[in-house]
Order: sequence, then C-alpha cells, then structure tokens
Amino acid sequence: MTGENVKRCVARIVENYRKELWDISRFLFQNPEIGNQEYQAAALQCEFLRRNGFTVEEKAGGLDTAFIGTFSRGEGSCIAIFSEYDSLPGELGHACGHNLIAAAAMGAAAATKAAMEELGIEGTLMLAGAPDEEFTGGKITLLKKGCFRNVRAAMAVHPTTAKSRVAGGNHAYLTYSCEYRGKSAHSESRPWAGISAQNAVLLFFNALGYARQMVKDGIRIHAYVKDGM
Ligand SMILES: [Zn+2]
Repeated sequence: MTGENVKRCVARIVENYRKELWDISRFLFQNPEIGNQEYQAAALQCEFLRRNGFTVEEKAGGLDTAFIGTFSRGEGSCIAIFSEYDSLPGELGHACGHNLIAAAAMGAAAATKAAMEELGIEGTLMLAGAPDEEFTGGKITLLKKGCFRNVRAAMAVHPTTAKSRVAGGNHAYLTYSCEYRGKSAHSESRPWAGISAQNAVLLFFNALGYARQMVKDGIRIHAYVKDGM
C-alpha cells in the first residue's frame, strides 16, 4: 500500500461527504459563536462524529465547548486532527475562516476512518475540537490538561488566500502575565508621593522593543495591556 493509494482512497471517500461538509461550513459561517461559546458548532460536530462511528467525549479537558472523538482499529499509533470553530467578535464573524477548518476536520476524520477500514490500516484516529482558538488557544489548554498524552502526531489546516501549501515553521509557545502596581497621589499637590505603574509598563514595552532586535531569527515577541486600571 503506497501513500498515493491511501491519498486516492481518502480523496474518493471525502467526495461522498461534499454536501454535508459545505452545510457544516455554511451553518457555522451564518451562526458565528465567539470563543468558549461555540455551543452550536460543538454540538453539530459531535453529532457528525457519532453518526460516523466515533466515540465522542464532550466537554473534553473540562472545557464546555471542547470535544474529542476517537476511532480505534487494532494496535498502532494515535494521530490527531484538530478542528477549530470559534469566530471573531462583533461584525467580523468567521473572518478567520474557522468554519472551513471545522468542515475540513470533519471531512478528514470521516474519510480517514473509512479509509482505515477499507485499506485495513490499524491505529487510533483522534479528532480534537479546540475552542477559543482566537484568544486563549484551545489546543494549548487541552494539551496542558493532558488530553494528548497518547498522541504521536497532530495535524491542522487553516484557510488562507495563498494557494495550498504546508505552512511554515512551528513555534513553541510561552506566555507570561505581569502585574504592575502603583500608588496614587495628587498630581498637582503631591506628585512625588505617587508611584506610576503606567510608567513602568511604558518602560517595559520599550525594553521589549529593544530586546526584539537581539533575539534569533524566527522568534516572535508580543505584548498587550489587558487591564489598564
Ligand atoms: Zn484562525
């Protein structure tokens, strides 16, 4: 069995799901739900996975709108495919195209499972629904909760205006949150008695800007103020 054979088999099977996948994509697009509130999107996908023979765990990792579908056949490694389905806030809706990611993930799951059965491939296929990808990044949360302990490799797609391609490099991901506390004082009569947390934050942002030019290629550094009072 060559890779080409498997590819052809998956492509043929996924064609059978064409209409249903477009329906999922369109429904999500027309009913956008922001991060951690993707109740309809999660329910729709859980139902699709169950109907296609996956065992589904809802609220995976204790997250309301996360889910994990699995299909096992004999022994073998566990490969995960990710679905994303949150929208951007307000008018933007699904401007990031997560409706397409969900539809692509469902198609990949159903077709890969059918191909495993047809071609006698053993292993476990996991379909992981990661909520709130726009902000907190559901994949990271699920990873930290230990949901991917047995996963050997994981895949995801994201739509773009560029033609189909394997996306560039990977980045490890670290976040820090800092809190600056000041001390208020009257700005006219006793400014010297005050401590400005805002000044400290501004200095920090400037320092970060200087640090950015000294790091190795490929490193990204970003910061933002979450709460200004
Ligand atoms: Zn996105």
